Amino acid sequence: MIYSNYNLKSLNSFGLDTYAKTFIFIDKENDLLDINDTSLSEKNIILGGGSNTVFVNDYFDGTIISIRNKGINIVQEGDDFVILDAFSGEVWNDVVSFCAKKGWWGIENLAAVFGNVGAVAVQNIGAYGAELRDCFMECLTYNPLKKEWKTYVNEDLNFGYRYSIFKNQKELEIIWKIRLRLSKTMKINNSYAAINNKIIEENLNISTPLDMVNLVTKIRNSKLPDPKVLGNCGSFFKNPIVSESHFELLKKKFSSIPSYEVENGVKLAAGWLIEQCGWKGKRVGNVGMHNKQALIMVNYGNAKGEEILNLAYEIEKSVKNKFNVELEKEVHIIL
Ligand SMILES: Cc1cc2nc3c(=O)[nH]c(=O)nc-3n(C[C@H](O)[C@H](O)[C@H](O)COP(=O)(O)OP(=O)(O)OC[C@H]3O[C@@H](n4cnc5c(N)ncnc54)[C@H](O)[C@@H]3O)c2cc1C
Repeated sequence: MIYSNYNLKSLNSFGLDTYAKTFIFIDKENDLLDINDTSLSEKNIILGGGSNTVFVNDYFDGTIISIRNKGINIVQEGDDFVILDAFSGEVWNDVVSFCAKKGWWGIENLAAVFGNVGAVAVQNIGAYGAELRDCFMECLTYNPLKKEWKTYVNEDLNFGYRYSIFKNQKELEIIWKIRLRLSKTMKINNSYAAINNKIIEENLNISTPLDMVNLVTKIRNSKLPDPKVLGNCGSFFKNPIVSESHFELLKKKFSSIPSYEVENGVKLAAGWLIEQCGWKGKRVGNVGMHNKQALIMVNYGNAKGEEILNLAYEIEKSVKNKFNVELEKEVHIIL
């Protein structure tokens, strides 16, 4: 179905009151025919649940393709594994719950991440010591301009921290479904301190993936603002990675700076850097940084794109001035 001048307020978790020139809903394969020279514009974007997308103008002068195809299919099952396909329009957390209830391990730590299946591979979602790439096998994509289907396996996507080749993609390529390999054998991932501490403190017995889903969901709900109450897109910036030598300098000046080593340097906590610059809980007009999570920009209602970009710029500037660290936006900014 194709619409003109379509309101996006309920389709983005920041709650921005934007209109799109053309809007196409894709529910089934046949609907892909609606994406053609007539419906496409100079600017075209793909939309899932809109929980990582920030529309900074009141009007998007282009075409939005909203992917809503549903389905979870078991492809292969063995004594200790299962391979399944999840279609892009499924809500990610529904897939997590479905798998956890079946007793399949692998994505339980990624419970309660907002958004739909199609987007999880785009930025290799990660939370609580797990990343999508750990159980991602492949995805099937469709390029409406070339009318071409293509399969990408895990290695093709060049997964990194909140990164895959689909992030900032130049081609219009729709992820149609993803394939995951999960385990039927118990594999508790308590590598993340917040999880492990909670298990010890509360003497919890985690013996099923559903136990882990419930624990992760409880922790997330206690910390993160609900977009239905306060519009937001989760972490606004990525955690920056700096060189060892840069980190040594920072450590001398800021002895309590949180950090952990990664392959290509030292990862810093963007939320901590932002908090040290005095932004935690600070409101500027209709936007601000959350009072529990300095990394999350929130919309107090009627936020305008200009306010979002200005606040982001001020934060980037103060972090750069204080720490000589460049922050990179995690959210997708749509101009
Ligand atoms: C409160 C909150 C907490 C969050 N916590 C986390 C977290 O812990 N970890 C984390 O990684 N993320 C987190 N996020 C961010 C967000 O939930 C994820 O990035 C999620 O995967 C986005 O899904 P979406 O469907 O809403 O994507 P959208 O915002 O709709 O799209 C995101 C990007 O993916 C592209 N895209 C979407 N669907 C497709 C498709 N079918 N084919 C091709 N491209 C597509 C879009 O063009 C866009 O570039 C959080 C967000 C919120 C609001």
